[in-house]
Amino acid sequence: MLIFTKTAELSAFLSEKKSQGKSIGFVPTMGALHAGHMSLVETSKRLCDLTLCSIFVNPTQFNDKTDLANYPRMPEKDLGLLESAACDAVFMPSVEEMYPDPAEKAVFDFGALGRVLEGVHRPGHFNGVAQIVKRFFELIGPDKAFFGSKDYQQAMIVKALAKQMHSGIEIVTCPILREPDGLAMSSRNALLSREERQAAAEIPVMMKEAKEIVLSRGIAPAKAFIRDRVAKVPGMKLEYYEVADAESLALQETFNPSVSSVSLIAVFTGKIRLIDNLILN
Ligand code: AMP
Repeated sequence: MLIFTKTAELSAFLSEKKSQGKSIGFVPTMGALHAGHMSLVETSKRLCDLTLCSIFVNPTQFNDKTDLANYPRMPEKDLGLLESAACDAVFMPSVEEMYPDPAEKAVFDFGALGRVLEGVHRPGHFNGVAQIVKRFFELIGPDKAFFGSKDYQQAMIVKALAKQMHSGIEIVTCPILREPDGLAMSSRNALLSREERQAAAEIPVMMKEAKEIVLSRGIAPAKAFIRDRVAKVPGMKLEYYEVADAESLALQETFNPSVSSVSLIAVFTGKIRLIDNLILN
């Protein structure tokens, strides 16, 4: 497995592979890899000739500086996992390598999609995501890029970005991988205490129950149910629970069975912010 830290060296390597007609699959990550990330690598390996994974904790997408400082970093373990998954190449740039001019600002507009859910609760987050993903896309020029539907809205933002850029890059969205108790795998789970980890297991359970309530009684009772359930879990605080059109993420007040819908949640478990989502129909 080749490891690159410099953009120039990565570009030279990729140019050579492209000239040989090899298709490139790109899996961007922030490291602290788990089976969810590895499923993206596996899918890329199935669909592309060469798989490149990036590990970069992108400072511009953190609206909370403490979150950035505490974000788990374990590069040696990550490299071991990628090696055993037979990933072809890894890109681990420094912040200076990706942001040579720290003053440079990029402003993106994703319309209504950027003004709901994470767009509201994490101001500037998607702007930072778009800034780094655009930079990676321009540098790497992959045929396909792989994103997890764990970050449902992010995958939609990236699709919109790829389109805005006229990049021709196909965005492949992969299913959420979960722990045996149903908790969506996340690098941030490593930051939970034992008690918080136990409490977090409630999230997928209440999401499933709320789904049944949406389908049988509607959205308002499901929201009330989630508010009650979260309030009963010690140390847990609800940021939002919403039902949205699965294609546009327009928030819904009344459930329409003929529109494909998704429920999305963000909760704090102690100081750790967790998100999850569930397709309803
Ligand atoms: P992150 O390192 O958290 O930025 O995630 C990198 C990529 O892995 C993103 O496309 C995520 O959506 C995806 N990912 C994270 N957790 C999971 C999961 N549990 N299942 C599938 N994909 C995931």
